[in-house]
Amino acid sequence: VFVFAMWEEAEPVIAHLGLIRRPDSLAGLPARLFSLPDESSSRTDVHVAWNGHNARFHGNNVGTTPAAVTTYAVIQLLKPDLVISAGTAGGFQAAGSGTIADVYLSSKCVFHARRIPAAESGAGSAGSGLQQLEESGFAHIRSPPLARLAQRIGAKIGVVSTSDSLDCSSEDLALLRSEGAAVKEMEAASCAWVCQQSETPFFAMKAITDVVDGAHATQQEFYANLSFAAVALKRAVVALIECLAERPFFEWVGLPVGKL
Ligand code: SAH
Repeated sequence: VFVFAMWEEAEPVIAHLGLIRRPDSLAGLPARLFSLPDESSSRTDVHVAWNGHNARFHGNNVGTTPAAVTTYAVIQLLKPDLVISAGTAGGFQAAGSGTIADVYLSSKCVFHARRIPAAESGAGSAGSGLQQLEESGFAHIRSPPLARLAQRIGAKIGVVSTSDSLDCSSEDLALLRSEGAAVKEMEAASCAWVCQQSETPFFAMKAITDVVDGAHATQQEFYANLSFAAVALKRAVVALIECLAERPFFEWVGLPVGKL
């Protein structure tokens, strides 16, 4: 199952694969689920969940809350072998991830804006500033080893970092740097946490739309590159599905079944 926040990211994949909407499948949520038609000859059972439109503000349901509930709902409904948080993201010149439309797979997913200072008596209380930020806030959820898959589909690998903001405060930037983040976005670590609870294999797959430490304002750059990056993402998604039709995910990541 691929979980997308934005229709602009999901639509090229849905159209390319000929997925059809399952009307009543995620009852109670704005999210929409698209699956292969019954007559499909695909060897891999592929589904796309999109977080839906925000009825009050008319954008997409971006950010961590819709990502979490959609992921939970699709896990309950489909018991998938693999969940992928797919979408677009900001890259960093300083980390070598500043090329628009490059696709990244996660080595791990973290949160960079969950600042929870350790308690007086707790670990880290002797330090100051960043040292006091409690580890649980960051989450640090490792992805399976994806080097072989990344090589086959022409993707790179890096740390994917999540917050609920499109902009980047100086505190965010300091944390992103200290975590070695290659990619900044708004959903992956949230999906990762939900998947971890049910031991559902998970990783993130993100195409770069904007350069966080670059010359252009994020929002304008994001919209200017969105459709270009979405096409690159779609190509990588299709290549990944071909790999998974060749052999199952656990073989690609070199782990025995049940050990993801
Ligand atoms: N106004 C838009 C929302 C854009 S938010 C709408 O409602 O349609 C940006 C989306 O792209 C998020 O889903 C996020 O995961 C991703 N993204 C791309 N570049 C980003 C960046 N530099 N920082 C954070 N998220 C980014």
